[in-house]
Amino acid sequence: MSIKAPYYHTIGKEIEVFEHAFKNKIPFLLKGPTGTGKSRFIEFMAHKLDKKLITISCHEETSSTDLIGRFIIKGAETIWLDGPLTTAIKEGAIIYLDEIAEARPDVIVAIHSLTDHRRELFIDKLGETVKAHADFMLVASFNPGYQKGFKELKPSTRQRFIATSFAYPVAKIEAEILVNETGIELDIAKKLVNIAAKIRNLTELGLAETVSTRLLVDAAKLIHSGLPKRLSVEVAVVEPLTDDLEVTEALKDLCNLMI
Ligand code: ADP
Repeated sequence: MSIKAPYYHTIGKEIEVFEHAFKNKIPFLLKGPTGTGKSRFIEFMAHKLDKKLITISCHEETSSTDLIGRFIIKGAETIWLDGPLTTAIKEGAIIYLDEIAEARPDVIVAIHSLTDHRRELFIDKLGETVKAHADFMLVASFNPGYQKGFKELKPSTRQRFIATSFAYPVAKIEAEILVNETGIELDIAKKLVNIAAKIRNLTELGLAETVSTRLLVDAAKLIHSGLPKRLSVEVAVVEPLTDDLEVTEALKDLCNLMI
């Protein structure tokens, strides 16, 4: 059985670095804003290394119990159910904790013993310690958004990982990604990338998050399936970015001039 490799366009030395991190089983942190290819990169690496990938999208309610496991009542019995982290540790999978800083603090505490030489997890509800499988690897992502609303990651936690930064790709590569992902013509892809570059430079707009590659991929998909170009950009790029009417109008005008 061979499943098609996820498409990933290399940006720098990240593949080589990850392979060595995996060989040495050093936890890996992907830093960068949303939509810059972090999840795609991990899917690609898991496929390349032929390892199972278990992804957890962390949010403010994500607790160590969600990751480690819990007792559930089944009929007249109480049975233990391993959580995704415990499963990954036992099976030797790669676990990807997406947006780890959003999770509750007990998640960070729970993974400590997995991120150093011990490579073990203490399951307090069972009073058991589980040693990680030789292939188990911990990967996390973190959005170092400088805006309010984003949580920080403590230095004592960060120093347990090696880290790579993800940013928006240079224009040529970003256009290639759009073509590959959606089948759109290169000429239109370049126009979309120019729009993104322009908006990313408009820091004075105070947007919480700017145009990501993901938004461009969505716009390209709509165009490729036949929606008019300007409307595609409006609904896939402009509207998701802001609710401010004046800013929306200004961005729409700008985009219309560029596509
Ligand atoms: P993140 O995890 O950083 O939020 P994703 O990995 O989900 O971002 O990327 C969003 C989309 O952008 C992907 O689905 C893919 O279409 C596209 N993308 C971004 N960077 C790349 C890349 N280097 N190679 C291929 N696709 C990419």
